Parts: sequence; C-alpha cells; structure tokens
Amino acid sequence: MYANVIIQYGVKSLDHTFTYHIPDNLKNIVEVGKKVTVPFGKQTCNGFVISITNESNYDEVKDIIGVVNENLKLNDELMSLGKYLSELTLCTLVSAYQTMLPTSYKISNSKESYQKYNTYYELNDIDNNYINTIKKGSKKEEVFNLLKTGKKLKSELNNYGLKCLIEDNVVHEVKEEIYRLENKEVIEKPLTLNEEQQSSYNEIINNINTSNVYLLHGVTGSGKTEVYMHLIDYVIKQGKTAIMLVPEISLTTQIVSRFYNRFGSNVAIFHSSLSDGEKFDEYNKIKEGKVHVVVGTRSAIFTQLDNLGLIIIDEEHSSNYKQENNPRYHVLDIAKWRSNYHNCPIILGSATPSLESMARANKGVYKLLTLKSRPKGSNLPNIKLVNMQDEFKKRNMILSDELKLNIMQTLERNEQVMLLINRRGFSNITTCEACGYTYKCPYCDISLTYHKTSNHLRCHYCGYTKLYTDKCPECGESTIRDYGLGTEKVEKIVKELYPSYKVLRMDADTTTKKGSHDLYIKQIENHEYDIIIGTQMISKGLDFPKVTLVGVINADESLNIPDFRSGENTYSLLSQVSGRAGRGKYPGTVIIQTFNPDSKTLNYVLNNDYIGNYNYEMDIRRKLKYPPYYYLINIKILSKKYELASIEANKVANYLKNNKELETIILGPTTANQFRINNVYRFQIIVKYRKDTKIKEALKYIDTEYISNKDVSVEIDFDPR
Ligand code: ADP
Ligand code: ZN
Repeated sequence: MYANVIIQYGVKSLDHTFTYHIPDNLKNIVEVGKKVTVPFGKQTCNGFVISITNESNYDEVKDIIGVVNENLKLNDELMSLGKYLSELTLCTLVSAYQTMLPTSYKISNSKESYQKYNTYYELNDIDNNYINTIKKGSKKEEVFNLLKTGKKLKSELNNYGLKCLIEDNVVHEVKEEIYRLENKEVIEKPLTLNEEQQSSYNEIINNINTSNVYLLHGVTGSGKTEVYMHLIDYVIKQGKTAIMLVPEISLTTQIVSRFYNRFGSNVAIFHSSLSDGEKFDEYNKIKEGKVHVVVGTRSAIFTQLDNLGLIIIDEEHSSNYKQENNPRYHVLDIAKWRSNYHNCPIILGSATPSLESMARANKGVYKLLTLKSRPKGSNLPNIKLVNMQDEFKKRNMILSDELKLNIMQTLERNEQVMLLINRRGFSNITTCEACGYTYKCPYCDISLTYHKTSNHLRCHYCGYTKLYTDKCPECGESTIRDYGLGTEKVEKIVKELYPSYKVLRMDADTTTKKGSHDLYIKQIENHEYDIIIGTQMISKGLDFPKVTLVGVINADESLNIPDFRSGENTYSLLSQVSGRAGRGKYPGTVIIQTFNPDSKTLNYVLNNDYIGNYNYEMDIRRKLKYPPYYYLINIKILSKKYELASIEANKVANYLKNNKELETIILGPTTANQFRINNVYRFQIIVKYRKDTKIKEALKYIDTEYISNKDVSVEIDFDPR
C-alpha cells in the first residue's frame, strides 16, 4: 500500500503529491486526511495524506515514518473543501489545509498532543485483609477513608497518607481529560418572537433543507440575534449542527455569552484570541460531535462539524470575512460550498448589507427578509452633523463646541460617552485643513495618495498622476496637508478637558494583551469609565445601555480612504456606531464632525436611509464599472528590485491586454497602495470583468510563470476588499 502525500512546505514548486510506502505496522493507522511524518531529501518533515493506492509508479519509494496526532482525520467533506479552496484562490493544496486547521493540528506542527488532564487517585477493589492492616488513627487511615467516600485526590499533593497507599499498591492513577474553557449552564429561555421575527423564522424553517441564501436586513437591535438563536434551536432539535460567524473578536464577547446562556455547553467558540490549547479543546469538541453550535470568526467556517444544518454570517458586510493574505478567500464562498454539500441554508445578517448582497437580493438570487422595528421599542438615536470648517475658524481643531456641550451634559447625567476616531491605515491622503477638500481621481473616484519622493499625487487604480501643490482648488487657501489624528492626541485633550472623569482609550495598542479586550468591555458595562475613546474597534456589535452619546471626531477620514468602497464602508461604519447610542432606556445622540457637511453619504447616515445610500452608490458603481456590476481582481507584482518589479508588471499587464479572448478592462500597472514594504516594491494591476471569462486560466498561467522566479513574485487577489 502506498500513500500520496503533500509536504508541509507551502511553496508552489512542491505543490504536488509525493508517494510513500506504508509499512506494515502503520497499515491500519495511515488514512486519507491524516498527518504523517516522512523522509524528505536528507531530512524528515510532515505531510498530509491525500490518497491511498495499491500500486506505485515508482521503483523506489521510502517508508512513511509515523502518524502525528492519531486522533486527527479530516473527513471527506473537508478533504474536498481543501481542493476547492486551493482552486478558488490559486494557493497550494497544503496552504489550503493549513488554513483549515487550528495551530495544534497544523501540518507543520509535530507536537503530539495539547490535551490537558486532571490526574487523581482512586481506590482499587480492596479486600478486608488489607483494611485490617491499617493502623487506627494513622494518616494512612485518614486518606483511605477519604478515598472510600469517593473523593478524588490530586496526585501532586504532598500527602503522606496517600504516599503510603501508593506504596501498598491499593490505589491507581486516573487521568481525566479536561477542557480549558469552563462548562456553561443554560440559564436563559428563548424570547417569544415578534411578528416580523416570526415570519423570517418561518420562511427559513420552511426551506431548511435547501441551500437557499437569505439576506436578513434588520437595523441594529431589531432582534436578528434572537432569530438566529431560534433557528439554531430548531436545527439542533433536528439533530443537526450550526455555524454562526461573527466578524471579529470585539463582537464575540457579548454574543458568545448570549449563546452560552441559551445553549450552555452545546457551544464551541473559535477565534484568534484563544490560546492554542483552548482552540485544540474546542476543535476536539466539534470534531467528536460533543457540541452542536460553533460561534467564531472567519476560520470557524472550516470546523469539522458533521450534519451541518445552518450557516449564519452575522454583520455580513464586514471586510474581515475576506482573508487578506494567502489564501485570499472570502468566507461566503466557503459557506456556499458547504451549504451545497449539506443542503442547508445560509443567513447573511446585517443592518447595512454589502452592496453585493443587497444587489443579489434585489435580483432574487438571495431571499430578502427584513426586520424594521426594535422589539424593545427603543428609538433610533438623534443624529447631527457638525461643520468643522466653522469650528476650524474658531481654532476648535478636534472637539467642536456642540460636541463639548453634549459631552458635558451627558457626563452630568451620569451617562457614558463614546468617541470614535477613524484611522485610515497607511495611505498618505492630503486634505485641505480649511475646507476639507481631498483630491480624487477623475476616472476612478478614489482619493489620490501623496508620494513624497516625486511630489506627486497618484491614483492607485489607474495610475493617474498630478503634481502636488498645497493650494486648495476649492477654497484657494494654501492649507492642503497630511491631516492625521491619532487616538492618543484625542485622549490627551479629553483628559485635560474633563479631569474628574475616567477616560479609556481602546485601540490596537491598548488591547494587545490577551483578555484585555474582554476586561475593558466588562469595565465599560460596569461604568468604570465615563468616556471611551477608540478606533473602529468600538463601533460594532457592542451593547452598552448607558452609552447615550457617540461622537465621531473625523468622519472624513473614512470617506477619503482610497478605495471605491469608502462611501459604502463609511455609511455602514457610521450607522453601526450610531447604533451604539441609546440602546437602553435612555435616548441617544450622535454627533458627526465633518469638513464635508454636504457629503451625500453623511446625509444618508443622518436620515438613516440605507436604501438611499444603496441607490446612490450603485449608480457610481455602474458608471465607473465597479462591483457588483463588474468583478475585480487585484494582481500584485513584487520584487526587491524596483526596475524588475516595474518591467514584470508591464509584461503581465500586456499579456492580459493582448489576450483578446478575455473580455476584461485592465488598469495599470501602477504602484500599489502600500508601495514599499520591507524593501519590497509592489506594483499592481486591476482587472475588471463582467462575465466569467477565461480570466482564471490566464491568471493560472501567469501564476505558474513566476513559480521558479527567485526575484519576482505575484499575488493574485480575487474580489479584493
Ligand atoms: P440585533 O442582533 O438585530 O442587533 P438583538 O437580537 O441583539 O438584535 O436584539 C436587541 C435587543 O432586543 C436584545 O436585548 C434582545 O434581547 C431584545 N429582543 C430581541 N427580540 C426580542 C423579542 N422578540 N422580544 C423581546 N425582546 C427582544
Ligand atoms: Zn484612477
């Protein structure tokens, strides 16, 4: 018997199977979907068994050395899913399986087990002769009697009596597998669904054995989560399982406790801030069928649940559902594949669905379900725009008079304030400090980024360039500069202004420590802080009844991100953050500071008009040939040598442009948004296409062309986010 094995190294040149002989002693253990150790060149490495055959085409094949993690075996479904993932994203097969497995089981990991045990002692069956030998009143007797009552004694105890019993050979050690995360009790009963919720629920239940995709569009607090839990309850009663995805960890804390309260230990959780050991435990619970519900972030879509009955993707518009690095997959593609495999529905839930999803729902590809009201009756907050141009003249650079007034009033009512600072990441966007004007590409409608070395402004989609001057074409002032605002700066000012109140800053820097995020959330809930300053991190999903004022310090930053989705994302970010205010019995206020009070997007936010914003954005997308009207692919050409990167990028672009079979629009090559990272230069080409043409074949060809090129590499990102 022979096993065809892929090797742990994810390089393209090794992306095929190697054949090994299965020695007799491993005949019954080596199986498809198992991890093995094999000789490779002069070394040994790990591999993953793809298939088993009776014959081999090679004269000389080496023996498999052993099986790692004997209790791990990917089932048929996940084996095929791995192949799909590698075809979908053009990644190596081994990277696909690596992505699907938690660290403890990753193919490159040789550690045998992460299992944690409680070890303790139990009495053997004892005959009376022995009992009579025990001295009355001795330590030995004391311990013996304890054990007789069924008490478990920890082995590490420095216990003389126990030591005697061990020497007498009348006790034995018991190893009990334990899970790192505590068991949870069901402590909450389902609520009675209201009419809207009930009709969405019914629609899905009536089609529970189909692979329908539902878009559940409901404002924040409209009871989507309650609907999910009712559906999951139904699915569990059918003996099936469910996956519920949330975009990021900051959302999981509160949602996870709701799920624990409702489903107790029938829930496994899965996200990146669990330790490897915790993930190992959770994965085993799933694999062994001990839980029926998995709540987790993106990678939870790969967990080995049998008999899947429902997949829920909450906050479906989140860009976190797309993996940024290799393999660049979108979780929805994986969900659809699994939904077809199991014949189970997918629910996409959001208060601000992505344009793609809403467009599909409008075309009838997805089924649209809507929740319009909040069951608890709390009102949507009162939203105001503040024109920062006027404030600027008063030298109010960060906090407007209006916001300051509202902060003071909120604090005096003993309620909490949340201040959001948008951060735009890495791009150098220049903005007029007086009027808020930002240069945009006339062809692509995205912000131009500033390149210091050449003193030019450039569009990262089409390469349009323009000489930089600090004179604003809108207001005529010489005040165009790189206007950036950090959380620390705001924190300092807020602390100076409100010295007697407790201020918390929550951003990537203050939440690196494991558990710090959860702790902050508890502290906010307990009102240990009066003012919370944070980045996008604080904007989503959280529910704090005493937060009644939300201030958005710089709404323009997110509008000016050089991405065609900036308008869509700003709408969703600001409506999410507005949803934070006034969740409880107190009414909420949202103050949005902007240099562009006429911005369409901001005015749609003001009027809580999702559909208005949808139509407005769709119109731009149609005119400028963006998704969902066109598909997009981003190809990056990387090299340490600037010249080479540029030459190869042109070659790739020309190859695509000259290929007449492809009905595509090719933009670029131009410098990528982050042009130089770690001394590697990055050029990019944007491909737009409407129909599923032969583009994939062409890209596969390009991809293979660079496999053995040591100086240049390509990255292909389908549907970049
Ligand atoms: P969403 O997920 O849409 O933000 P949730 O499911 O979190 O909404 O519901 C918002 C609040 O309303 C929660 O406190 C929830 O307990 C409550 N709620 C939801 N559905 C009902 C219902 N049918 N009856 C009473 N309260 C409800
Ligand atoms: Zn452009």
